[in-house]
Amino acid sequence: LELQVQHAARMDSLGQLSGGIAHDFNNMLNGIIGAAELLGLERIPAASPGADELKLILDTAGRAADLTRKLLAFSRSDQQAKVVLDLHEPIRDAIAILRHSVDKRVEISTRLNAPRATIRGDKTQIQNALLNLGINANQAMPRGGVLEISTELVTLDAEACAAEAGELAPGTYVELCVRDTGVGMDEALQAKIFEPFFTTKEVGRGTGLGLSMVYATLESHGGGISVSSELGDHTTFRLLFPAHRDEPLRPTAETVSAATKPLKVLV
Ligand code: ADP
Repeated sequence: LELQVQHAARMDSLGQLSGGIAHDFNNMLNGIIGAAELLGLERIPAASPGADELKLILDTAGRAADLTRKLLAFSRSDQQAKVVLDLHEPIRDAIAILRHSVDKRVEISTRLNAPRATIRGDKTQIQNALLNLGINANQAMPRGGVLEISTELVTLDAEACAAEAGELAPGTYVELCVRDTGVGMDEALQAKIFEPFFTTKEVGRGTGLGLSMVYATLESHGGGISVSSELGDHTTFRLLFPAHRDEPLRPTAETVSAATKPLKVLV
């Protein structure tokens, strides 16, 4: 519990810090990028003096802008535009983007089985969450593999909630699973991945903010995220969104098994 509280406190202070500086910083970066673009990569032929340096400026500033956007998303995670929506909508949008961005050898397979997926949520945040998970999965399959995205309607009874050891209330949830046949993670790695700034990727490739953002998104939606993985074999992220209460929903699976890591107990 203490670790959970520490994790929550770190997420809060990160949110405040980022809210204060990220916005201004992003504006400055856009100034740098705009000016560098004006200098014109097209106007400077590839082999001429300064071309490499200009490309470096643009690449680095672009990465910095990406990081500040992620920090901004953190600070805004409480002020989201929540509406009643079909979870399949942002999922389909994200899949369409992923189809263009994953490696050619990665097959995307979808099984959107939830008969109804009505939730109260922020479409953009959910789409970003799935993009983060999809891009991570793609990076975890450098020689290709299968990225499977599926939904199911599940009911958590009191017993299932207790088995999960999380804070989820018993009820009906729309479950979104993102599974890859990639490098996988051992237990020690799984325990750290939701921490802000934790990354195993080389400098410039990973910010370590993707999964902590996904975590924050689920938290603000009253849901939860858990991971199950086997080193060298596969990884599955399971996201649970509370089903919208006004809808009479019929579950497709009776209870959520406790086979994966406990929800919300992440560190
Ligand atoms: P980043 O992708 O910038 O490193 P994340 O928070 O998204 O930040 O991920 C943190 C770490 O979790 C990654 O560096 C990687 O080690 C691990 N990870 C995330 N997704 C997967 C996956 N699908 N398979 C294996 N490892 C993963």
